[in-house]
Amino acid sequence: MKTHTQVVVIGGGVVGCSVLYHLTKLGWKDVVLVERDELTSGSSWHAAGGFHTLNGDPNVSQLQSYTVDLYKELEEISGQSCSLHLTGGVMLADTPERMDFLRLAQAKGRYLGMDLELISVSEAKKMFPILDEKYFLGALWDPIEGHLDPSGTTHAYAKAARINGAEIYRHTKVEDLVQTPDGTWNVITSKGAIHAEHVVNAGGLWARECGRMVGLELPVLAMEHMYLLTEEMPEVIQHNQETGKELIGILDFGGEIYTRQEGRGILLGTYEQACKPWSPKQTPWDFGHELLAPDIDRIAPELEVGFEHFPALQNAGIKQIINGPFTFAPDGNPLVGPVRGLRNYWVACGVMAGFSQGGGVGLTLANWMIDGDPGYDIWGMDVARYGDWATLSYTNAKVQENYRRRFRIRFPNEELPAARPHQTTPLYDQMLTQGAVMGDSWGLETPLWFAPEGQEAKDVVSFHRSNDFDAISGECQAVRNSVGITEIANFAKYEITGSGAEAFLDRVMTNTMPKVGRIVLTPMLNERGKLIGDFTIARVSENHFYMFGSSQAEVYHMRWFEQHLPTDGSVVIRPINLGWVGLSIAGPNARKVLEMVTDENVSNEAFRFMDFREMDIAHAPCKVNRISYTGDLGYEIWMSPEYERQVYAALMASGHEYQIRNFGMRALLSLRLEKNFGTWFREFRPIYGPYEADLGRFVKMNKPSFIGKEAAMSELTEGPKRLRVAFDVKANGADVLGDEPIWYEEKVVGWVTSGGYAHHVQKSLAQGYVPAELATLTDEDSFEIEILGDRRKATILPEPPFDPKAERMRM
Ligand SMILES: Cc1cc2nc3c(=O)[nH]c(=O)nc-3n(C[C@H](O)[C@H](O)[C@H](O)COP(=O)(O)OP(=O)(O)OC[C@H]3O[C@@H](n4cnc5c(N)ncnc54)[C@H](O)[C@@H]3O)c2cc1C
Repeated sequence: MKTHTQVVVIGGGVVGCSVLYHLTKLGWKDVVLVERDELTSGSSWHAAGGFHTLNGDPNVSQLQSYTVDLYKELEEISGQSCSLHLTGGVMLADTPERMDFLRLAQAKGRYLGMDLELISVSEAKKMFPILDEKYFLGALWDPIEGHLDPSGTTHAYAKAARINGAEIYRHTKVEDLVQTPDGTWNVITSKGAIHAEHVVNAGGLWARECGRMVGLELPVLAMEHMYLLTEEMPEVIQHNQETGKELIGILDFGGEIYTRQEGRGILLGTYEQACKPWSPKQTPWDFGHELLAPDIDRIAPELEVGFEHFPALQNAGIKQIINGPFTFAPDGNPLVGPVRGLRNYWVACGVMAGFSQGGGVGLTLANWMIDGDPGYDIWGMDVARYGDWATLSYTNAKVQENYRRRFRIRFPNEELPAARPHQTTPLYDQMLTQGAVMGDSWGLETPLWFAPEGQEAKDVVSFHRSNDFDAISGECQAVRNSVGITEIANFAKYEITGSGAEAFLDRVMTNTMPKVGRIVLTPMLNERGKLIGDFTIARVSENHFYMFGSSQAEVYHMRWFEQHLPTDGSVVIRPINLGWVGLSIAGPNARKVLEMVTDENVSNEAFRFMDFREMDIAHAPCKVNRISYTGDLGYEIWMSPEYERQVYAALMASGHEYQIRNFGMRALLSLRLEKNFGTWFREFRPIYGPYEADLGRFVKMNKPSFIGKEAAMSELTEGPKRLRVAFDVKANGADVLGDEPIWYEEKVVGWVTSGGYAHHVQKSLAQGYVPAELATLTDEDSFEIEILGDRRKATILPEPPFDPKAERMRM
C-alpha cells in the first residue's frame, strides 16, 4: 500500500470507481481507491441496473447521456462486460396533466439533441404487450434507456482505472481523516496511514459518516427500496420469440412503478408511499453484502395498481424480492464538488441513480479537481446548493417527501410541504394573516402572492395560468400605478471589510467598484469567462462594502470568495444571512412613502438612483439601496430582524393614502420580465459568457485585470455566438416555464431560460438564447416557442416593453 499519493478516493461503489477512472483518464495517475470490503459493498451490487437520460434539470440530462455513452468505452478499455441491454423505454401517461408533462419533457429533449418521441398507447403496447391500454393516454419513447449489470459495470470502471495506473486497496477501511497545517490529508485506514493531497468522499451509504470524520453533516439519507423478480412468464417468452426483441423499460407514473425484462420474466420496482428510511442517524459499519428483509405489505397498494395496469403479472410467480438501501439528497440529485471551508475535501455522494449518473459525476468531479472547474453547468448537483439549515432532521423529512414523490409531477407553481415552515422572518404571521401564499426560498418562508379577501390562500397547481393570476395582476398594477411593498429577506447579503477589500472585489468582479455612497451591478466570472455570479455592491466607506446576490448561491459564492481571498488577512468577507431582513417598496409613489418615515432628505437630488445610504426609518437603523428589481422607482431597505415589524408597520401606515399593497415574489418576477432583467440560475449561469447574456456594459475591459478577463476578451473580440433575447409570445392560457425549445424555420435554434405573464404590459414574455445571427430578426412572428407541445408564434423584442428609456427608476 502506498503511503503517499495525490488522491485517496473513499469508496468502491460505482461512483467512487467512476471518479477514480476519470481522474486517470484526465491524466492523474498517482491515485488510489480505498474500499472497506469488496468493491460494490454498499448500494451498488443490488441495484436494479436501469439507466435513462431524462432528468428534470437539462444539464443533468446531458451528463446522464454522457454516462450511457461511456459504457462502450469502458468495456473496450477494461475487457469487462457491463451486460448492456439498450432496450429503449417509455414513460406512460395516465392523466392529461401527465401528458402535458411528457410534452414538456419531449420539448426539453429537443434542444439537448435527444430523440424522444410521443407515441400512442397501442404503439407502446407493441413493445410491452402486457400493458392494459385502457389505463393510459399516451407515452414518451426514449431509445437511450436500458439496463446493465451493476456489479460488472462497477468492476469495468475499476479495471479501466487500474489499467490507467490507479491502485485499489480492498478490505481497507478509512477510519479517520486528519488535515495537516498545509491543507493536505492524513487518511487513517485500518491498514495504516496514507498521506494525500486530496480526499474524495464517495462513501455512498456511509457518505454521512465519512463527512462526520471532518465535522460535516452532509444532507443525505438512505431509504429502503424494493423491487421484485418474477418467474418466467409465457407472455415475455412469446414477445421475445415473435419480435426477436427484449421487452422495453416502462415507467408507469400512475402506479409509481418501473419495470423491465429480467431473464425471461419481469423486474418490477416501486417508490412506495409507505416509504421507510434506513439508518436515519448512523449507518452501521458492519453492513455489507446483505439485503434487508422484504416487506411486501408496504408496497402492496402500488403492486395492486401494477397488477391492474399489467394484468399478466397477476399470474406470474414471484421469484425474489430485493430490498436494499440507497441514498438521496433532499431534492434527489447528487452532491458533488469541493466543500466550502475544507481545502481539498471533495464529495461525490447522494447519487441515487448511479448507473445513469455515475459517469457524469466522475467526469465533472475529475475536471474540477484537475482544472479547477467542473467543465459543465452542474449547479443541480453542486454540494454548495445546501446551507447549514439543511440539518439531519430536515434532510430526513425532505428525502422521504422526495422518495414518495419520485414519480409525481412537480408543477411549476407547486411548493412542497415537508419540513416547513423552516426559517421565518418576524413578519411571517402578519403575512399569513394578510393572505400570503408562502414559498420556500433556500429554506426561508417567502411570500409568493397574496390572496384577496374571499379567495383561499392556496395554489391550484397547474402547467397553465392558475388561480394566482388575477391577484398577481393586481399586485403588479399596484406597483406600476402607485406603490407596493415586498419582503426581500431571501436575498444573500455580505459585508466586505478591510484595507484590501476594494482590490479584492476589483479582482473577482468585472465592474469597477463604486464611489462611497454609490452602488454598482456586476457580474462575476470564472477563469473560462463564464458567469458564476451577478451582484449588487454598495460602498459604505473607503474599506467597507455591502453586497447582495442570490441566496441559493450563498455557499457556492462563499466557496469561491474564500478560495480567492488574499492570505494576508487584509479582507474579511462575512455572509450576513438572516442577520438582516429586507423590505422593498417600489412604484411611482415609493418616495412619498419613504419621506414620511425618515428625517433624511430622500429627494431625487439628494438620494439618486443607484445611491446607498444609512438612515433611520421609523427610528430603526437601516441601510437603503435606491434600486429595485421591479425596474421602477424603488428602495431596498435592510435592517436587523428585531426592527422589521416596526419598519413594516410604519411603511404600511405612510403608504395607506397611496393604497400601498403587498406584493410577492411572483409579481416581482413578472415585473422584472417587462424590463428584460435576467435572473441568476436562469438567464445567468456558468454556461454563458457576459456578452452572450447581454451584461457587457458591466464588464470593464479597461481594468488592469480581473478573473476571466482574457476569456471575456476573446468572447468580445470574436463576438458572442449566441445572445440572450426577449420574446413576446402569442400564448394561449399557458406561458413559458423555462427550457422550452425556440424554433426558427422548422428548426430548433435555441431555448427559453424563463418567462411568464407580464401583467402590467399584458404580454406573455419569454427570455432565452438564440444564435447571434438570429438575434436581430425582430419581424413579427419570426420564431415559435413550444409551450406544452404547441408551437406558439413569438417575436423578438428589441427593447423592454415597459419603460424602455429607464426613466421610472430615475424619477
Ligand atoms: C434496490 C435498489 C435498486 C436500485 N436500482 C437502481 C437502478 O435501477 N439504476 C440506478 O442507476 N441506480 C439504482 N439504485 C441506486 C444505486 O445502487 C446507487 O445510485 C449507487 O449504487 C450508488 O453508488 P455509490 O458508489 O455512491 O455508493 P455505494 O454503492 O454505497 O458505495 C459506497 C462504497 O464505499 C465504501 N465505503 C464507505 N465508507 C468507507 C470507508 N470509510 N472506508 C472504505 N470504504 C468505505 C462502501 O463499502 C461501499 O462499497 C438502486 C439501489 C437499490 C438499493
